Amino acid sequence: MQESIDGPGPSVVISKEDTRDRIACPENNCSGHLHVNLGDRLAGVRFFCSESRNHNDQFYGQCPTCHKPAADGEEEVLSEMRPKTIDAKHTQPLILEDIVSNDGTGTSLEALYEASEINQADDDTYHWNLDTITPGSQAIFYDTFSLNDVFTVSDVSSVSAVYGYESNVDSRGTDLETHGRLARSFSSSDSDRERTAYLTRREGRGIVFDLRTDVLADVVSNGDAEYEAIAARELTQLNDFDTDEIADGETGLRLTPLLHAYQHALYQAAIEETGLEDFLAAKVLIEEGAIVLVEQRDVGAGGLSQITMNKTGSVLLRTLQRTEEILSDCSRDCTDACLSCVFTDDARCHPFVSREVEGYVPANSLLDRHLAAEVIRRA
Ligand SMILES: [Zn+2]
Ligand SMILES: [Zn+2]
Ligand SMILES: [Zn+2]
Repeated sequence: MQESIDGPGPSVVISKEDTRDRIACPENNCSGHLHVNLGDRLAGVRFFCSESRNHNDQFYGQCPTCHKPAADGEEEVLSEMRPKTIDAKHTQPLILEDIVSNDGTGTSLEALYEASEINQADDDTYHWNLDTITPGSQAIFYDTFSLNDVFTVSDVSSVSAVYGYESNVDSRGTDLETHGRLARSFSSSDSDRERTAYLTRREGRGIVFDLRTDVLADVVSNGDAEYEAIAARELTQLNDFDTDEIADGETGLRLTPLLHAYQHALYQAAIEETGLEDFLAAKVLIEEGAIVLVEQRDVGAGGLSQITMNKTGSVLLRTLQRTEEILSDCSRDCTDACLSCVFTDDARCHPFVSREVEGYVPANSLLDRHLAAEVIRRA
């Protein structure tokens, strides 16, 4: 589909045997498949058949929307198949993303707890968790902000890899899989390697906010379901939606937009508190109900440790109060989320880890500031 008879081919990998994404020539008894002749102008773009140059005028097929079967003496009306121009809106990167604590194992909340305990044993200067403060202050975190714990991890890597791109065009009536549709990976100039993936790995300190799942479940389901079941159901649904459905905001999900909005507000409050731009990434762990802020470059004591440096927890508390303001007071009084409240720079919005949510989710989608605000002062 993406090859051209004129000009150089795109620098992508597709082997001769790879028939995965081919569209069969619709002429009777033809074993060919369709290519696109890009020509020299958009209006001249045409399909042509790999087997026969005679099969190149117009192709007709049974479009699921416009095809009219023969009825009442009327002849069947076939639809003309024409190549469709595709812009960036119809392609999306194939991405893998994760965070990993360098001291613990794996990326789970449990591993992050473990890493934090190791940091404490190793006398990490900036180590912090809720045990540091008085039981009275701890109760404010638990009751007001619905947090089981807030703790630091000294080394967290955030890793992103882009290994290709795929199309998200609607192609009903073809045998192309929805996932990995017309997927292309990057070829490598190194003769020892077949394909290239582009990977960034950044390291810094992290703060983990472990939210009370009983409160989260109560907010999203009024106590009708257990947290684990809600999280599992939303992850299954989320992985089934296509990009357009997510961007349209009609997913019906509740837990994921809640956690994501809480994450954006915390992220923004932390940036305001530290006075630093461009140093932070954030992730949500949906199964475990946690939010992680991670430094993306070495900012020494000037970064996240500013928030927990103070032993009474008052700076952290101020950050949480600011988080609450961002969630509940939007100057435009928007319904879910907007530029005036929880939206962030698109490039900074990579909220999920790939073991939970596969593939690409449009930036600043799946945000609900009202649900997130309900988590605060629930008790
Ligand atoms: Zn043909
Ligand atoms: Zn708003
Ligand atoms: Zn986001």
